Amino acid sequence: MDYQAVLDEVATAVRPLIGQGRVANYIPALAAVDPGRFGMALATVDGQLFGVGDWRVPFSIQSISKVFTLALTLARDGDAVWRRVGKEPSGNPFNSLVQLEYEQGIPRNPFINAGALVITDRLLRLTGDARGVLREFLRVESGNPALDFDPVVAASEATHGHRNAALAHFMASYGNIENPVADVLDHYFWQCSLSASCADLARACGFLARHGQRAGGERLLTRSQAKQVNAVMLTCGTYDAAGDFAYRVGLPGKSGVGGGIIAVIPNLCGLCVWSPGLDARGNSVAGVEALDRFTTLTGLSVF
Ligand code: GLU
Repeated sequence: MDYQAVLDEVATAVRPLIGQGRVANYIPALAAVDPGRFGMALATVDGQLFGVGDWRVPFSIQSISKVFTLALTLARDGDAVWRRVGKEPSGNPFNSLVQLEYEQGIPRNPFINAGALVITDRLLRLTGDARGVLREFLRVESGNPALDFDPVVAASEATHGHRNAALAHFMASYGNIENPVADVLDHYFWQCSLSASCADLARACGFLARHGQRAGGERLLTRSQAKQVNAVMLTCGTYDAAGDFAYRVGLPGKSGVGGGIIAVIPNLCGLCVWSPGLDARGNSVAGVEALDRFTTLTGLSVF
């Protein structure tokens, strides 16, 4: 298949949607991003890389980081992770507090903020440096040693992170946070502030297309654990629009409020698309459309 021609066709088709939606502004540093950006990259499991538009421009990965912290924690902790976080869609906004009280401080899944905070807490306990381990993993898998945090975004998140602080303290009151809450929040804000391009992220999620095997050949996850991460992405990866995303795109995917979305085609490739304008549920308008067009044009989905 001529992937470059497909990406070019997708980029042309979504052009009218670029700039639609709203750039996230609850983290002030994110509101400064140019809404006219669009990029898309595809990295095959055997190392080929294709891209279109702003595919080499770094953007704030935000919640896409949650896929990688989950994988890094699962690799070290195995099934024990699932005692502290569930694997069901929440049906609530990503930063909702209400469900946590009904469910005794156990978040529905690792991709809503509460669940991601639990995962960061666990990774911090297991490694002593959750954000550092994450950055190193992304640098190696993407082949980009310059991939780094954005301190302005991290500081902006910390200043405006009252809701995440509330979630973390609330879970701590149920005994579901092991480290000091301030440390967990710090690692979480820095993790979300990582900047990476579509090219970086398409490559970095390749281990999920290779059933747990890293770019260099060593194994991060068992085949079964890679399936678990992909399954949770499919059911919970795109906020409370995961059903719509599965229906339209048919791939495991994870979005972030920076406007990026990663998606995985097992045995074949990692994909990443970026455009900052978000729909009402927080997913990139042009990004979802691009992935929808991609799977429709190629017939490549998990179904
Ligand atoms: N850092 C953001 C937050 O915690 C991530 C949100 C997202 O991308 O979904 O609010």
